[in-house]
Amino acid sequence: MKVGTPKEIKNHEYRVGLTPESAGELVAHGHEVLVETDAGKGIGALNEAYEAVGAKIVDTAEEIFARADMIVKVKEPQAVERAMLSEGQILYTYLHLAPDPEQTHDLIKSGAVCIAYETVTDNSGGLPLLKPMSQVAGRMSVQAGAAALEKSHGGRGVLLGGVPGVAPGKVVIIGGGVVGFNAAQMAIGLHADVTILDRNPVTLERLENHFESSAKVIYSTNALLERLVKEADLVIGAVLIPGAAAPKLVTREMLKTMQDGAVIVDVAIDQGGCFETSKATTHADPTYVVDGVVHYCVANMPGGVARTSTYALNNVTLPHALRIADKGWKQALRDDRHLANGLNVWNGKITCEPVAQDLKLDY
Ligand code: NAD
Repeated sequence: MKVGTPKEIKNHEYRVGLTPESAGELVAHGHEVLVETDAGKGIGALNEAYEAVGAKIVDTAEEIFARADMIVKVKEPQAVERAMLSEGQILYTYLHLAPDPEQTHDLIKSGAVCIAYETVTDNSGGLPLLKPMSQVAGRMSVQAGAAALEKSHGGRGVLLGGVPGVAPGKVVIIGGGVVGFNAAQMAIGLHADVTILDRNPVTLERLENHFESSAKVIYSTNALLERLVKEADLVIGAVLIPGAAAPKLVTREMLKTMQDGAVIVDVAIDQGGCFETSKATTHADPTYVVDGVVHYCVANMPGGVARTSTYALNNVTLPHALRIADKGWKQALRDDRHLANGLNVWNGKITCEPVAQDLKLDY
C-alpha cells in the first residue's frame, strides 16, 4: 500500500502523523511511504531521517493526496485537504466530527474511508487513541502549574516540593481519571502535598490502592471542595462527563477565597472548563489573573510538547496503521471490532452512530 503523511497545516500544529520510526516500520512491511517535505521538522524529525528508513520525501501535499492509498495525519483535515481526498482513499486521523458539520459534509462528499482515532475503542471500554493526549496533559499540568507559581509568573512564590524544614505546596486535583492520575504521579514525584478528588467509587478505590499514603484520595463534595480550594497552592481541573460540558465546580465565590498568587490549571477547558472563571488560552499567552489567582487554561496542551505527543500518539496509532496497510482496511476492520468502531464515514455515509445522531444525519 502507498501510505502518505502530509505536513499538518492547522494553526500552530507541530505534530506529525508518522514519526521516522513509524515510517520505517511501514517500509519494513513492504509499503511505500510518502512524506511531505519538512512534515516532521516541528518535532526535530528531518527529511533525512525519513529517507534513512526508506520513506520518500515529496514536495507538496497535493502529491501526497494524489498518490497515497492511505493518508495518516494528526488533526482533522482542513478544507483544502478535504478537497484533495478521493473516493476510496483511506483517511486515518483525529476527526471529531460531531461538532463539525462542515467537515462531515465534505468527508461524506469525498467518498473517502475515514477512520477517526477518537472513536477506536478497547476491551476495557476506553478510547486508547485519545488516552496518550490525556496522559501528556495530566503530566504537563503540574509542570505548568509549578512554573506559574513562581513570582515572576504571577504566582505566590511556592516551590511545590518545599525543602527540608519548609512545608511542600498543596496540590488539589479534581477528577482522578487519566489526566488526574498522571497529574498526581508528577505532583507526588515533586514531593508536593497531593489531594485527589473524584466521585466514581471504582476510580477512588483504584487511586487509593495505587498511591497508598502518598496522596489523599477523597470523595468530592461541594463543602470539601470549598475548604480545599481555599488552602491550595495549585488546583488542577481534570473532570470529564463524557459527551457533556464540564461542570463548573469551582465558582467565582470560591475563587475569591483562594490565596493571592495561587494557581489553577484547568485541563478540562476543552470541554468548557470546570472553574467558573476559566476561558481558553493559548501556548503563546497561557495565563491570566482573576481575583489574584493565576489561571492556566490552554486548550491544546499536548501541542506544547509536540515531540513527546507525536511519539505517544504513534505508539498507539501505528499498530492499527500497519494492520490496515497489511490487510486492507476492510479485512483489518472485520478482524478487529475496536478498530471498526473508528470508521466514521464510508461510501458517502456516516458509519458512526453517535456522530450521525448528533448531526441528525442518516446512519
Ligand atoms: P477521564 O474520563 O479519564 O477522567 C475524568 C474523571 O472525572 C473521572 O474519573 C470522573 O469520575 C471524574 N469526575 C466527573 N465528574 C466529577 C465531579 N463532579 N467531581 C469529581 N470528579 C468528577 O477523562 P480524562 O481523559 O482524564 O480527561 C479529563 C479532561 O481533560 C477532559 O475534559 C479532556 O477532554 C481534557 N483534556 C484536555 C486536554 C488539554 O489540552 N487541555 C488534553 C487532554 C484531555
